[in-house]
Amino acid sequence: MGVKESALHVLPGCLAPEPPSESMHRAASRQRLLSLAQYVEGILRRDRTILARAITLVESSREADREMAEQIVEECLPHSGNSIRVGITGVPGAGKSSVIEVLGSYLTSDCGKKVAVLAIDPSSRISGGSILGDKTRMSSLSASDMAFVRPSPSRGTLGGVAQRTREAMLLCEAAGYDNILVETVGVGQSETAVHDMVDFFLLIALAGAGDELQGMKRGVMELADLVAINKADGSNIRAAEKARSEAQNALHYLPAVQSGWTPRALNCSAQTGKGIAEIWECVTEYVAMAKANGWFTEARRNQTQKWMHEIIRESLRLKFETHPAIKKRKDVLEKEVQEGRITSFRAARELLETYSDVRGSNSL
Ligand code: GDP
Repeated sequence: MGVKESALHVLPGCLAPEPPSESMHRAASRQRLLSLAQYVEGILRRDRTILARAITLVESSREADREMAEQIVEECLPHSGNSIRVGITGVPGAGKSSVIEVLGSYLTSDCGKKVAVLAIDPSSRISGGSILGDKTRMSSLSASDMAFVRPSPSRGTLGGVAQRTREAMLLCEAAGYDNILVETVGVGQSETAVHDMVDFFLLIALAGAGDELQGMKRGVMELADLVAINKADGSNIRAAEKARSEAQNALHYLPAVQSGWTPRALNCSAQTGKGIAEIWECVTEYVAMAKANGWFTEARRNQTQKWMHEIIRESLRLKFETHPAIKKRKDVLEKEVQEGRITSFRAARELLETYSDVRGSNSL
């Protein structure tokens, strides 16, 4: 199999955007002359431009933007929560974008629902290139009035990126999107991060692409409510059916999940449209079951509690790492740890003590 045909072929992706220059900041602030009330009113009025601008604030690392973003999210919170949130993962090349494009069009055109597509791609932070790639790939969905497609925030740790995507999700809900699709790739802990913010988790896999690499034999399978074996078309139909039945078997041996749902496997094709409506039938069946047995509400409550702890962890980490006293001392200690002159434990303790000292002297 040639590299290009491999299910694991990584798209070159797009470069991470340059940090904004001063002139860009000035242009942005001219554009940012909206008040809190205008942002909130615009979002609730379902104005996509204002929604996009509010999400830009959510994704900004500037203190003033973050403060405004927090207030917008807080004001929008009572209007959020009314969507069905679906996480979608799979190795690069599995067909996530293609399935989302077709599923999104099915939802907007056939079901009359508004769809927002968000993403968490930690690779964009690490490599400067994005595995999920440029979301303009979903060109027909992006062009629809009923859809809102937003690529992954590109800066920050996975925790930071996930937090921003979560906030963007809440804003999309306040702006009336009925279904939120959050896409991610099997990199690091990103699947867990997405699983922790959605109601339903879909794994898109391929026949013959190596179960191990697709997450079919590790934790990801345990997170999945549905495994869709994609590209079940042309000469691949039989192989896809075999993979489906193997996946169904594997799901059968996993421990029972708290929701009471029995995870399923099906075949689909973004090319022919086969199985796409079935994916959504499965989601709605799940939601009906989870609402009836109380799991839907309970799971969301657990998630919001988890988010609170994550926000605390992330804020503490950010405060710690960006403090000038820490920054200065960290470089020296890192070098000493690398050269074996001090243990990592001692170095970490020293940094933490430095932080306690500067906090104690009120210099924060
Ligand atoms: P992603 O990296 O998981 O988002 O995958 P893409 O959606 O970019 O798809 C990777 C490649 O597989 C593209 O060349 C698609 O045209 C192709 N592809 C996606 N879905 C299908 C499908 O159902 N059948 C076939 N034959 N090709 C597909």
